[in-house]
Amino acid sequence: MKRKRIIEILDHPTTGETVFVKGWVRAFRSNRFIQLNDGSTMNNIQAVVDFENFDEKLLKRVTTASAIAVQGKLVESEGKGQSHEIAVEKIEIIGDANPDDVQKTVMQPKKHSLEFLREQAHLRFRTNTFGAVFRIRHGLTFAVHKFFHDKGFYSLHSPIITGSDAEGAGETFHVTNFDLNEIPKTENGEIDYSEDFFGKAVNLTVSGQLEAELGALALGQVYTFGPTFRAENSNTSRHLAEFWMIEPEVAFNDLNDNMDLTESFLKYLCNFVLENYPDDLNFLDARDQQEQKAKPEKDRNPMTLTERLKFVANNNFERITYTEAIELLQRSKPYKKKKFKYLVEWGTDLQSEHERYLVEKEFQKPVIITDYPASFKAFYMRQNDDDKTVAAMDVLFPGIGEIVGGSQREERLDVLKKKCADFNIDEEELWWYLDTRKFGTVPHSGFGLGFERMVMFATGMTNIRDVIPFPRTPLNAEF
Ligand code: ATP
Ligand code: MN
Repeated sequence: MKRKRIIEILDHPTTGETVFVKGWVRAFRSNRFIQLNDGSTMNNIQAVVDFENFDEKLLKRVTTASAIAVQGKLVESEGKGQSHEIAVEKIEIIGDANPDDVQKTVMQPKKHSLEFLREQAHLRFRTNTFGAVFRIRHGLTFAVHKFFHDKGFYSLHSPIITGSDAEGAGETFHVTNFDLNEIPKTENGEIDYSEDFFGKAVNLTVSGQLEAELGALALGQVYTFGPTFRAENSNTSRHLAEFWMIEPEVAFNDLNDNMDLTESFLKYLCNFVLENYPDDLNFLDARDQQEQKAKPEKDRNPMTLTERLKFVANNNFERITYTEAIELLQRSKPYKKKKFKYLVEWGTDLQSEHERYLVEKEFQKPVIITDYPASFKAFYMRQNDDDKTVAAMDVLFPGIGEIVGGSQREERLDVLKKKCADFNIDEEELWWYLDTRKFGTVPHSGFGLGFERMVMFATGMTNIRDVIPFPRTPLNAEF
């Protein structure tokens, strides 16, 4: 008989149909009720056995985490919690699970801390929480491609190994095949990269943007969606050493077009999860509400997870300049009461305490801050007419902080060359980037969305380590 996925049966149950399913046992209660899950959905199917009809030894092997196949008739369920259940006729054990061993794992059906689940990241997919998170993560991946494809963008695979770290986006990981015990040196004692695999120093990419720009200046609108690496030793709940980033780049777009694109993209992603993952979302919503209750009243989010997604999908983002943000902050209560730890002054970068105040207290919705001082933004951002600020934009989300960073790019060769000099960037290393400004250069813009930060927002998970299958963070590369 052909196996059916549990989701197919639960979504379209036909009473009386004989069905054949395979999955992992979540629980076996009263020697009668098996809860079976095959990962296709949050929901288990209930399989009911008449123990008199089965070999006792066989039933003993139906334990939590074991893999079994079940065949039987689909009947209407008398119990609550499910409309239909399988009246089991045949059971086959596919893979045993020793109950004593299961006891020590996250599969033991009880509440486990997220820290403990991280230590067992190889098994945490078996839990409801992580099943839901990773189904939604998949949904978002698909939605990213769908959004851009439907808008006529081309996906561009930017390189993972690159010679450019000119962006200054973060500390890089070096890539080499030197024997680390015998690194070739030049006469003056420096590492001789001409002897290395690529004949030059290379690193793992911190961003695919520069390459995306090259694509956009021919294909019109492109996006990258790939892994990104930053050796930042920060160990926060929002930073990974390896994360995934989506970077669209569009020729002829100015900063306003860029903001419009970002906003419609983020709204689309929220709607996609709302429409396609109601079961997973409901589960995570209940989970989130329990977490909220455990917090002190002032830190609680007044909105549920679903409400937060709907809110972003249905409300315009606030758009303010950096200069306005500084003025707002200087008029704010926490500023006057000296509650901010960091300086609020034109010319200094906004810290997360300031961003949180603006998003969570002042506006209570996503905020786009534009036109930052040139000094703390990247060299490629377009110089504004005031000569002090650049056409940059950061999108801040409630509970997350910065989720998107983007800008209009400097398309004027002379200005760009001057910026390289100001930032101590060797023009020769970036010759290919500068070259595009010589042949029909045009205004263009793009941004980077940190994919995991979006998954955090969509799932209500508050630690970035819990939205990527195997997190890479300082001192941690297990699995
Ligand atoms: P942050 O200030 O939060 O460190 P950033 O300014 O370094 O961010 P960008 O260089 O603009 O970030 O990168 C674009 C996006 O990538 C950010 O808006 C964020 O969503 C995401 N991002 C940046 N660094 C990380 C990281 N270490 N782990 C996960 N996501 C990240
Ligand atoms: Mn950073």
